[in-house]
Amino acid sequence: MANVRLVDVKKAFGAVEVLKGVDLEIADGEFIVFVGPSGCGKSTLLRTIAGLEEATTGQVSIGDRVVNDLSPSDRGIAMVFQSYALYPHMTAYENMAFGLKLAKTEKGEIDRRVRAAAEALSITDYLDRKPKAMSGGQRQRVAIGRAIVREPEVFLFDEPLSNLDAALRVRMRYEFARLHAELKTTMIYVTHDQVEAMTLADRIVVLNGGRIEQVGAPMDLYDHPANLFVAGFIGSPK
Ligand code: ADP
Ligand code: MG
Repeated sequence: MANVRLVDVKKAFGAVEVLKGVDLEIADGEFIVFVGPSGCGKSTLLRTIAGLEEATTGQVSIGDRVVNDLSPSDRGIAMVFQSYALYPHMTAYENMAFGLKLAKTEKGEIDRRVRAAAEALSITDYLDRKPKAMSGGQRQRVAIGRAIVREPEVFLFDEPLSNLDAALRVRMRYEFARLHAELKTTMIYVTHDQVEAMTLADRIVVLNGGRIEQVGAPMDLYDHPANLFVAGFIGSPK
């Protein structure tokens, strides 16, 4: 587990400034959700925390380390994307074990971690299946399992459910809540789905045009939106 601190983080692509100065303290073990309209910079902010994008200026800290100069693999994070390409020729087990094998983790330890993750995600019965023999929800669980086995200090999720159908999205929402209750790891979760944000978040961060409009617990934002933008965004289901 670790806290995450962003100090005046800016990110420009060429002349276009996408993050315009983000300050945020995320507590150890918090489930924080970024919401905001398409193109407001949610993914860019997540990728900047992950180290997949370099902040133009400002500071990113994870735990007690400033990580600006660290590569993604040295930041103690694991990220799950919306398009979670699994290796088609590998079983669920092999997909989850692969990264640990590359990292030369000992075989017994790999087995312990894969089985524990599979247990947490209720996919123990599918460990021998290849992706094409699994449903979309099962594949997404394997992708999450791949992140869990790395035992990161911080999980980063970028719209992990948006490719799933509505019924499955609802079910997976509960899975995320349960997973967080069990692992107690810091989770940073991007979604454009207000209901997902309201149900999962300890605190919601509302982004707009590369800036934070408001940060607060779901019901705080709902009851006391700082402005019309937040009121419109949190109040109205799409
Ligand atoms: P969101 O995830 O909130 O939809 P993004 O963070 O993906 O938004 O994108 C924010 C803005 O940054 C968009 O205008 C997008 O076109 C731009 N952008 C994102 N990545 C790049 C990139 N690699 N190069 C240039 N522009 C980018
Ligand atoms: Mg995005």
